[in-house]
Amino acid sequence: MKTPSIIQRSLCSAKGRRLQRSINNMKITVLCGLMTILVLRGTIGAGNFGTPAQDFEEIKAHLRSATREYHAARVLTQVDEKVSADGASSDDIEEVRSNLMTPYRLGPKISDWDDQRKQWLSENSQTSISWQGRPRVLLVTGSQPSSCENSEGDNFLLKSVKNKLDYARLHDIELFYNMAHLDQEMIGFWAKLPLLRKLMLTNPAVEWIWWMDSDALFTDMSFEVPLEKYENYNLVLHGFDDKVYQQKLWTGLNTGSFFIRNCQWALDLLDAWAPMGPKGVIRNQAGEMLSKSLTGRANFEADDQSALVYLLITQRLEWANKVMLEKSFYLHGYWVDLVGKYEENMAKSHPGFGDDRWPFITHFVGCKPCLKNGGDYSVDTCFKQMERAFTFADNQILDVLGFRHRKLGSPRIVRVRDDSSHPLKLEGKSLDRLPSVV
Ligand code: UDP
Ligand code: MN
Repeated sequence: MKTPSIIQRSLCSAKGRRLQRSINNMKITVLCGLMTILVLRGTIGAGNFGTPAQDFEEIKAHLRSATREYHAARVLTQVDEKVSADGASSDDIEEVRSNLMTPYRLGPKISDWDDQRKQWLSENSQTSISWQGRPRVLLVTGSQPSSCENSEGDNFLLKSVKNKLDYARLHDIELFYNMAHLDQEMIGFWAKLPLLRKLMLTNPAVEWIWWMDSDALFTDMSFEVPLEKYENYNLVLHGFDDKVYQQKLWTGLNTGSFFIRNCQWALDLLDAWAPMGPKGVIRNQAGEMLSKSLTGRANFEADDQSALVYLLITQRLEWANKVMLEKSFYLHGYWVDLVGKYEENMAKSHPGFGDDRWPFITHFVGCKPCLKNGGDYSVDTCFKQMERAFTFADNQILDVLGFRHRKLGSPRIVRVRDDSSHPLKLEGKSLDRLPSVV
């Protein structure tokens, strides 16, 4: 049996662990600076907006503030030992920081996924087409591992899951709900990136992964996404070409609901998309850069949506031809524009259109229902409108059962039909299908 060396023995003691921790911290401080240069220079491409001399000065300034910020963050991490709202403990963060020894990656480089997937499908006698002849879709959503800071937020999350279960059941789509932080550095809105990659690799028979935020609700239960339109595309989001490519608006597209194809191109895109995500110095510095480069963006930490817009603008030739910005229906619909028109939709139209006549998805961007004080909008307004959107959608489900909500936003329901002694002969209603639009 081997005896432990002096170093190993001393590392096992408390003092040794502190020593190890200090060494790690020193390494991390240096590497942090290095990472900032690498990220800004290599991935973000600092040279796009200035002369080389300006770039150098800018990077030096970034490095100085990055180091200061890192020290501040480390002190806070040591002081605050409790679990944070997004479920990451300071121990987790420390563990992650030591991974800065190597540049951030979502996982091992994969370069032949299309072949690997094709081979797997043939060996397992599987296809990526469902029995109805449509490409297989996996609907994916999720929320933080811990409870919301207010119970109303948790109740909303439950309604949001019910809403997605209803839609998925009606359209024969599988649903995956994630509450785990697969990567401690990619928490918050970035959590979807490592998750999407993992789900692609573990579900080779799935053709499209459909990410949907927890604060987005289906409001048209009949609308079917026209996947046949996207045969030549690998990424489909709600958005507008001119707002992205000409106006450089960070809101030119929305990453709250999108389709990404299970293919090599998508893995490459995720690799190119992820580097601004790691929480802390990198995300903060990248946020500053994004606010300077994109239109209408206040200064806050880098978010996945701005990073994607930036990627499309700066590497347009590489990615844009496989990205479809869909505007013919609300794959994402901004709640502020939609919630006031629900009554009009009900009076003048019927589900099945997905556009202004009856919006497909209502997304409560900026509401942050899980945070105690909400986000950019009044908490009361957000919850009131979320309740209205939920009942607007739920009416379409209850209709099959012969009920509807007394009014939008009310949990109370009223009967709209008497029960029949021939329940299967209900004209235009079915237990597992909603009437589709003609
Ligand atoms: N999210 C997650 N895990 C987390 C935190 C967030 O899966 O720990 C998901 C959640 O579905 C949320 C989405 O990330 O809806 C994006 O965040 P949010 O909707 O708050 O951003 P916004 O749409 O307001 O910009
Ligand atoms: Mn959202």
